[in-house]
Amino acid sequence: MLVRGGRIVDPRQRLDALRDLRTEGDRIVEIGEHLRARAGEETIDAVGWVVAPGFIDAHVHLREPGFEAKETLASGTAAAVRGGFTTLCAMPNTEPAIDGVEMVARVGFPAPNRERGVLARIFPIAAMTRARAGREVLDYPSLVAAGAVAFSDDGSTVADARVMREVLRALAPLDRPAIVHAEDAALKGSGVMHEGAVSARLGVPGSPASAEESIVARDLILALEVGARVHIAHVSTARSMELIVWARERRARVTCEVTPHHLLFTDEAVEEFGARAKVNPPLRTAADARALRDAVRAGAIDFFASDHAPHTDAEKSGDLAHAAVGFTGLEIAVGAYARALPDLPMSDFVALCSTRAAEVLRLPGGTLAVGAPADITMFSERPWRVDPARFASKGRATPFEGWELPRCVEATVVAGRVAYRAEGGTSGS
Ligand SMILES: [Zn+2]
Repeated sequence: MLVRGGRIVDPRQRLDALRDLRTEGDRIVEIGEHLRARAGEETIDAVGWVVAPGFIDAHVHLREPGFEAKETLASGTAAAVRGGFTTLCAMPNTEPAIDGVEMVARVGFPAPNRERGVLARIFPIAAMTRARAGREVLDYPSLVAAGAVAFSDDGSTVADARVMREVLRALAPLDRPAIVHAEDAALKGSGVMHEGAVSARLGVPGSPASAEESIVARDLILALEVGARVHIAHVSTARSMELIVWARERRARVTCEVTPHHLLFTDEAVEEFGARAKVNPPLRTAADARALRDAVRAGAIDFFASDHAPHTDAEKSGDLAHAAVGFTGLEIAVGAYARALPDLPMSDFVALCSTRAAEVLRLPGGTLAVGAPADITMFSERPWRVDPARFASKGRATPFEGWELPRCVEATVVAGRVAYRAEGGTSGS
């Protein structure tokens, strides 16, 4: 395949230039100027588009096995390629949980598998404790050997600090991060949104910022003590960011991610959209969202992650107290990041969508260097409107419904094959 005339942005190679790019089989074989198409070679005209290393979403819930009405590996990866993602890291809160080598092998797809309907690469994140129950440490080396790239009880927090320290001790020699879902269950109580002026006005129980920050602080201190790697998932408060910076200054091995919704929405969205804006951690204040955008600009956030958490329409309807937590994210993410941070340099944007996640989780890809996997995301600055009826994901609920987003995925190539091509995405304009 020959991709012609695009602006190739590859932070790993420090490349940002108009170039042509050639793939052969599932690898990138050549980057240069004025490459000539060979007989029979598929050509993509990428004039006016950015051509980037395949985007990676390192925090998604694919729901299979156990919750196939919400999403499957097939529908989730169809949503991924529409959203520009060639690689996903799947969270283990399935039924059963991904806490053994058979389960890791079952949901792991280091290469796409068309017979199985898997259009993107899937790297499993295994549970941190048996059945995600927060009590029993697992045999991490065997899970890594089976293909697990990190460990997390995401959706739940290991409440017992002693168990958490044991987890970190066992993980320290493996150079694989513990991904922390930071939420103190006792402080959260029955909270259904951020505790603040809006929850008071609505008369619903809130979960305070301290429910997140106290666990972030605890796990950073444990990581410093034990020398393990921790990755703080979906950071949502200004103080969590301050704590991460504090720990980094003390040489903690800490990384973190931020979601599109925490960059753009506040708890006022819950007043406006109800259950459609219910998510964990909850949407916080305007000052928190601003602090997260500032943290991205300052280079304090390692990568973007959507926390794609699809549910059925029935589960997302109804009142705030009973509706399911979380919403679909893969298909709005790229446009939403651009809307949140319109002035971010393009190489930083690509690093946050691809390069850095590949480095932190030691995944293949993240670069368009010769010899790298032929995973390519092409996008333009064509504005588009979010219409959940067009989603490939089974999850249709999103607070971004109806929003106009300024950046559009035009084509997604996985392992050398076009997995998605936008309608009306004529280049050259
Ligand atoms: Zn999650």
